[in-house]
Amino acid sequence: MKLRKVTAASAAVLALAVAATACGSSKSDGGSSGGGNKIKIGIKYDQPGIGLKEPNGSFSGFDVDVATYVAGKLGYKPSQIEWVETKSADRENALARGDVKFIAASYSITDERKQKVDFAGPYLLAHQDLLVKANSTISKGTDLNGRNLCSVTGSTSAQNVQKKIAPKANLKENSGYSECIASLQSGAVDAVTTDDSILAGYAAQDKYKGQFKLAGLKLSNENYGIGVKKGDSATLKKINDALASMVSDGTWKTDVEKNFGPANYKYEPAPKIGVIVK
Ligand code: GLU
Repeated sequence: MKLRKVTAASAAVLALAVAATACGSSKSDGGSSGGGNKIKIGIKYDQPGIGLKEPNGSFSGFDVDVATYVAGKLGYKPSQIEWVETKSADRENALARGDVKFIAASYSITDERKQKVDFAGPYLLAHQDLLVKANSTISKGTDLNGRNLCSVTGSTSAQNVQKKIAPKANLKENSGYSECIASLQSGAVDAVTTDDSILAGYAAQDKYKGQFKLAGLKLSNENYGIGVKKGDSATLKKINDALASMVSDGTWKTDVEKNFGPANYKYEPAPKIGVIVK
């Protein structure tokens, strides 16, 4: 009798522990994998053509399309996706905290970031460039030394400027590129620097048409990957498989054309999974 009581008590403790674990994991991994209710996905909210929250509350852009396709392969319908804004400087932390299951947010694969997160992909190759006023004489990276330049905290773009492109530029950092574009328009800065894929999208917006130009410099290789929590190898593998099938079934091509065609962005061919262009 005594023994049975102990067993019942430990069973209750065990049940509680299991419940607590289940509860904790559903909260901390951005959603269960497959068939679950919702999946949380990190994107940018202010990058036209890549990740944009439209005034009506809907979302558009290549990253949104890639993420939607990948989520489909993980077993989630578009209606089960909960979009979360992950700004450049927040991405590693958002994954570590489990705020989102994965991130598709113009997120370049770098050795430094790989210490903290794992990357599926790459699924797009972009290059760092400059956006300047249409009448600007800035035409190469070194022209930026001594000039006012804007980029985003936590981006490879800001790092590259300081380390190699123009260490003597007066770099102003914001939390998003849309603030930089406003500074360029007002004349507070002489150039905005980040990936050409992002800059082309801004330049093509109706409200900026004719005002800006891209310098057309390939200042770096930015291999866009999908970030997952470090060690989540099951999700990583499923995402890599999804990206490979997105290319082979033609969806990749349709989606790059749909999102980058209007901005006249000359995108690179689809990268091979696991092959990083240095
Ligand atoms: N792709 C670069 C990066 O991951 C720049 C764009 C961004 O800030 O998202 O840092």
